[in-house]
Amino acid sequence: MTTASPTIDVADYILVGGGLQNALILLALAARKPAASILLLEREATLGGNHLWSFQARDVPDSAWEWMEPLVEYCWAGYQLNFAASSRWVAGAYRSLSSEHLAQIVAQTVENKTNIQIMTHAAVTRCDPQRVTLADGRIFQGRLIIDARGPDQNASRRGGGYQKFVGLECQLRQPITMNAPLLMDTRCPQYDGFRFHYVLPFAPDRVLIEDTYFSNNPTLDVDTISVNIIAEAGRLGLAVERVLRSEVGVLPMPALSTFHPRNEGVLHAGYAGGWFNPGTGYSLAAAVRLAEHLSTVALEDVYGKAWRQLVRKMRIQSHFLAFLNLMMFGLFHDKQRAKLMERFYLVSDDVIHRFFAMDSTALDMWKIMWVGAPWTPKGRSKRATAPQ
Ligand SMILES: Cc1cc2nc3c(=O)[nH]c(=O)nc-3n(C[C@H](O)[C@H](O)[C@H](O)COP(=O)(O)OP(=O)(O)OC[C@H]3O[C@@H](n4cnc5c(N)ncnc54)[C@H](O)[C@@H]3O)c2cc1C
Repeated sequence: MTTASPTIDVADYILVGGGLQNALILLALAARKPAASILLLEREATLGGNHLWSFQARDVPDSAWEWMEPLVEYCWAGYQLNFAASSRWVAGAYRSLSSEHLAQIVAQTVENKTNIQIMTHAAVTRCDPQRVTLADGRIFQGRLIIDARGPDQNASRRGGGYQKFVGLECQLRQPITMNAPLLMDTRCPQYDGFRFHYVLPFAPDRVLIEDTYFSNNPTLDVDTISVNIIAEAGRLGLAVERVLRSEVGVLPMPALSTFHPRNEGVLHAGYAGGWFNPGTGYSLAAAVRLAEHLSTVALEDVYGKAWRQLVRKMRIQSHFLAFLNLMMFGLFHDKQRAKLMERFYLVSDDVIHRFFAMDSTALDMWKIMWVGAPWTPKGRSKRATAPQ
C-alpha cells in the first residue's frame, strides 16, 4: 500500500491526512469514480489513528451504503440510556468501526489499483490550491487538494465546552448477556460537568467502557480515570479481567460554529474544516456527506450548486448545534446539565437520529429547545419509555 514516491504526475485528488475523513473520501471516490487518480498522504505509519468510531441510524444517507457497507464492523438494533430518574431505549441501528478495520478496508480497496496511491510517513507542511509540499521538500501537483489533517489543525477556540473521555476495551472475567450499547448511564457520581458511562458490547466477554464528561474544561487525568473505570465497572455488571486497548478523546463542543468552508482553492475537510457535529463532537455523519458530495460531482463542479446547497444546510445545522452548546455550557451546570441531558432524550427516536445526523428540521429544533427549556413541565420526564 505504501509507496516511497508516487508515480502519478498530476493527481485528480490529493488527500492530505489519512484519517477518517479522507479514508471515507477515498472509498467513495474509488466506488463512484474508478478512473480518478488519487494520492493520499499520511504523516504516520498507518491510516486511521487509534479510534473506535460509532454512528447512528441516519448518519449515513441511503445513497452512501453502496461504499459504506464494508466499513461496518459492529451493528446493534438500538441503544439504552439510564438516567437518575428514567431510562430509555432508542430504536435504530447503532454501528461502530475501528481504525484497524478502516485501514484494512482502504488497503483492500486500493489493492492492484495503479490510479490510487497511498504514501505513509509523508508529513505535509503546506497545502496550496493545486500543490502540496512535504516536510522533506517534495512537491506534488493535484487538481483538487483536500486538507483533512485532523482536530489538531482546528486550533480556533470558540467557547463552549468539551466532550472528553477515556475508553478502555476490556476482556471480561465472566461473559455478559448485554446485547446492545449502553449509550449513557448517568447513575454514577457526578463531577466535572455532566458525567456518564458508555458501554459497547463487542462480544459476551469483550466490551468498551468509556467514562465521559461534558465539561467546561479540557483537562483529563487519564490514569485516575482508567483506574476508576475498572473500579466502577462492577456497578454496570462488568468484571474486568484485563485491558486490551485504550483511547482518549477531548472533543471541542464549540459555542460558535467553526464551519466556514470556502468556495475555491484547497478544500478544508474533516474535523479541521468544521465538518463535525458541534453538539456531539462526532464527525462521521458530516464526513460521509462530504465524501458523497465529492464522489458525485465532476471535479470542475466541486464548488458548484450542489456544494452551495450542502454548505448552506450544514451551516444551519452547525450554528444550531453550537447554539445549544452556548446554552448548555453557559447556563446549565452540575445537576442542571444532567437534567438537561435526560430531558433531551424525551424527544422521539426520529428527532434524536436527525440531531446526530445533522439533519434536524425546524420542528425538531423547536422540540429540542422545548424539552431543554427550564420552564418545561417537570412531569414530562415520565414520558421516557421503559428499557426493553
Ligand atoms: C478517541 C476518539 C473517538 C472518537 N469517536 C468518534 C465516534 O465514535 N464517532 C464519530 O463520529 N466521531 C468520533 N470522534 C471524533 C472524530 O470523528 C474523529 O476525531 C475523526 O477521526 C476526525 O476525522 P478527521 O479525518 O478529520 O481527522 P483524523 O481522523 O484525526 O485524521 C487526521 C489525519 O491527518 C494526519 N496528519 C496530521 N497532520 C499531518 C501532516 N502534517 N501531514 C500528513 N498527515 C497529517 C494524522 O496523522 C491523521 O491520520 C472521536 C475522536 C476521538 C479522538
